Amino acid sequence: MAEKVIMPKQGLQMTEGTILSWLVKEGETCEEGKPLFEMETDKLTITMDAPASGTLLKIVHGEGDVVPITELIAVIGTPGEDISAILSESGSSTQAAAPESVQASAPAQPDAAAGGYDFDAVVIGAGPGGYVAAIRCAQLGLKTAVIEAVDVGGTCLNRGCIPTKALLHPAEIYETIAKEAAQAGVHADNLAVDYSEVYAFKEKVVKRMTGGVEKLLKGRKVTIIKGRATLTGAHSMVVDGKEYTSDKIIVATGSEPARIPIPGIDGEGVLNSNGVLASDKLPEKVVIIGGGVIGIEFATLYNSFGKDVVIVEALPRIMSTMDEDASTVMSDVLSSKGVEIHVNAKVTEIKDGPTVVYDENGTIGEASGDLVIVAIGRRPVTKDLGLEAVGVKVSDRGFVEVNDKLETSVPNIYAIGDITGKVQLAHVASAQGCVAAANAAGGNKTIKYDVIPSVIYSNPEVAAVGITEAEAKAKGLNINTGFFSTAGNGRSVILGSTSGFVKLVTEAVTGEILGATIVAPHASDMIAELAVAMNSEATIEEIADTVHPHPSVSEIIMEAAHDVEKLSVHKM
Ligand SMILES: Cc1cc2nc3c(=O)[nH]c(=O)nc-3n(C[C@H](O)[C@H](O)[C@H](O)COP(=O)(O)OP(=O)(O)OC[C@H]3O[C@@H](n4cnc5c(N)ncnc54)[C@H](O)[C@@H]3O)c2cc1C
Repeated sequence: MAEKVIMPKQGLQMTEGTILSWLVKEGETCEEGKPLFEMETDKLTITMDAPASGTLLKIVHGEGDVVPITELIAVIGTPGEDISAILSESGSSTQAAAPESVQASAPAQPDAAAGGYDFDAVVIGAGPGGYVAAIRCAQLGLKTAVIEAVDVGGTCLNRGCIPTKALLHPAEIYETIAKEAAQAGVHADNLAVDYSEVYAFKEKVVKRMTGGVEKLLKGRKVTIIKGRATLTGAHSMVVDGKEYTSDKIIVATGSEPARIPIPGIDGEGVLNSNGVLASDKLPEKVVIIGGGVIGIEFATLYNSFGKDVVIVEALPRIMSTMDEDASTVMSDVLSSKGVEIHVNAKVTEIKDGPTVVYDENGTIGEASGDLVIVAIGRRPVTKDLGLEAVGVKVSDRGFVEVNDKLETSVPNIYAIGDITGKVQLAHVASAQGCVAAANAAGGNKTIKYDVIPSVIYSNPEVAAVGITEAEAKAKGLNINTGFFSTAGNGRSVILGSTSGFVKLVTEAVTGEILGATIVAPHASDMIAELAVAMNSEATIEEIADTVHPHPSVSEIIMEAAHDVEKLSVHKM
């Protein structure tokens, strides 16, 4: 099938681009991912790759033409293929005219979908993957709809990132006043928490954020369809008995809490993250099954409010995906605050109570609470979506198979977010959404996962990007490390957070930054500095030579960069 080449949008402000030169002539063959033409925007000159392999059947815009974004500039297909419909739809001549003689056609009309479909692009699921993809599709001139079965904003805004942080914020205020204020000369009497008000605060934040997303979608003229979609064909889906058709489809149906088949898992007082976030009760004692990201954040929440917390983790350490030193520090911090942690402890049963029974290195233990939280990971929402029926390949574990352009095994269907099983984080889903939308609009973007920051909103926060020291060693890389403790940092001392650190992992010869782990206040904000440095291929020297503000926690990054060369001034 013929593939349209359109003027891509290279940057948020771009509205048009100038074709500088065609690197493949009409009638010649081009290869997907290989240079096709050079173009210029007001900011940059760039070589664009062919979006597909085939014969360059028609060049619609020649060298020197200034073309609005998303407008057709060429068509790739097989020799002899009838492309008259594509050309007339874009207002172009159906003759194989010389490139120079082709006139600019009208800009894309967002109100009219291509190819007789209802929409140019339909996104299924309005989480941080789906709503971002829908907005970006609309920004790129596509007539777009988004279908949402439950709540706009998805897991992240309704049952994940935002509500957990909206609860952790009052918890931190409480802990600071309860444990630290007096040392700094601030005394508060009758400190009390009204959890129903904490809950109401969380709800208010969620409502504001989801309302904002709805406004953005409407402002971009994205049609919001409420209901559960099932695919009925490569270009069609049904919602509540009504069929919709679309040229491109982006599937972004996300994930839900995983279940473990242990006796008592459905018992009273046993909740997953959805249940916990929907409850306005503050339990006195909580047993958390799972010491991963979600488990540690819930442990932080209840411990900060002064409640008893027990963590039961099957693996040898909590936060097993993070650098081992970060696990050790957080384990010590949580234990010093009274959290009971059991590792190498496999849950065998949840008895009435509820009481968690676990096997810890061969010894049977029990932990009771008035709430048991099951935080053992998430599974993709891909069942009953009709994916397999329309030919989209899904793995044994239910994840949709995609390439680095987010294309599935069906050419016009893309998949993004948690269902791709890459990195289950909101910002990854959004980044994938932008790439899929660009490709749906005729672009040729790819995504890489080597510079993805991840954060645990514990107290102090834990943040990481790139690879850990252990991963670098396992790969046999020649590395240096730089380390700096928050105990040597003025701002951290003021904030009462002296057990943290930053560790930088660098390539020994080139100084390239391979990864970083931070355990410190504001680690979630500071990790972005290292992500930018890695993305722009900055060396450790450039971090070390960048003057950081004083006093700030960010100085630990500069000190660790100096430490790579054993030149940290504030370290013995
Ligand atoms: C407690 C918790 C805390 C988290 N904290 C963070 C954090 O701090 N930072 C972070 O980056 N990530 C965090 N995450 C993970 C983050 O929420 C997910 O990675 C992210 O929401 C995935 O986005 P998504 O768009 O792929 O899917 P989702 O957000 O799950 O959205 C999918 C949407 O699709 C809809 N849907 C499903 N099936 C259909 C259908 N057939 N038709 C129509 N609609 C459908 C669903 O209703 C849902 O709204 C957290 C998760 C949890 C559970």
